[in-house]
Amino acid sequence: MKPRDIFLTKLHRGAAPRAAVGSATSIVTTDLMDKIGVTFPDAHLDPEKMALLAAAGHTELGFDNVMPLFSVWHESAALGCRVDWGHRGRMPDGHSVCTSIDDPFQVPDQFLKEPGCAVPLKALQLLKKEVGSEAAVVGKVFGPWTLGYHVFGVEEFLVASLLEPDKVKHHMRRLLEVTVAFAEAQIEQGADAITLADHCTRDLCSPETYRDFLAEIHQELHERIRCPLILHICGDTSDRIEYIRKTGLECFHFDSKVPAAEARRLAGEKLALMGGTGNISIIRNGTPEMIEKDVAENLRVGIDIIGPECAVPLDAPYENLKTLARAAKKLSGKPSCF
Ligand SMILES: [Zn+2]
Repeated sequence: MKPRDIFLTKLHRGAAPRAAVGSATSIVTTDLMDKIGVTFPDAHLDPEKMALLAAAGHTELGFDNVMPLFSVWHESAALGCRVDWGHRGRMPDGHSVCTSIDDPFQVPDQFLKEPGCAVPLKALQLLKKEVGSEAAVVGKVFGPWTLGYHVFGVEEFLVASLLEPDKVKHHMRRLLEVTVAFAEAQIEQGADAITLADHCTRDLCSPETYRDFLAEIHQELHERIRCPLILHICGDTSDRIEYIRKTGLECFHFDSKVPAAEARRLAGEKLALMGGTGNISIIRNGTPEMIEKDVAENLRVGIDIIGPECAVPLDAPYENLKTLARAAKKLSGKPSCF
């Protein structure tokens, strides 16, 4: 089985000769940029450079998928957010379009043609052509909760979700169409699966808020977007994995704040799990022995796609990601694991 097929099979918890290795979020480090000769911010703004750096996830690190949208601001830039694209050692940051939930906000008609969307769409097309027969090509979109933070500002959006929930729901319905349109465009360019990132972490969003504002929307996204979806939420999500399970989404990319065995128990039989390896403790600071031990434990409890919990810290050594990929393939390929 090719790496691509192993990854896509594992997204459905299917049988494969080994576990998959992958990430729904960025695996770029500064030493990987040096190795490939492409750095931030160019890799956010130039489709050829974006594709080249993303391809290294497969060709250099040995992951079974590639994912070129390294930042969280692409479609938000296309919606009108002013974005500082950062530099080699810093991820981009952006500013909201509106200051109040009552400000008029229109989704620009041609937002898919703005560079924020057009660049990653072109990069996905290049990746499909260059590595798409071997590695799974994964796109990324943000859900309407995160887009709401970006368009209206985090504080304004959160306060409004408590005081004026109907207004928030109204905006989320409109932003949902942005998520669907960007996802459909990514599928047209060759994405095999899509990361759906929504920053509804416990610090900012209670389990009841997830249930009332988001579970239905994530279910609708699953029904409308015609490819497997990988939901990514940072932080401790143990109080909402049961709601996520009910959305029907294929896979959940989880943070190590949820112990892997607990995540597996909460996810049940159908929801595939990706990630769970700590970015600081293991990916940045771990020795090869610690990485192997972490991988072995995640395999033992039934994590389907081994990988980092979230976007890898830029100052992590990429050798550790190679070690993780090698360990996952070696340990899961042993007959005793099946
Ligand atoms: Zn994250």
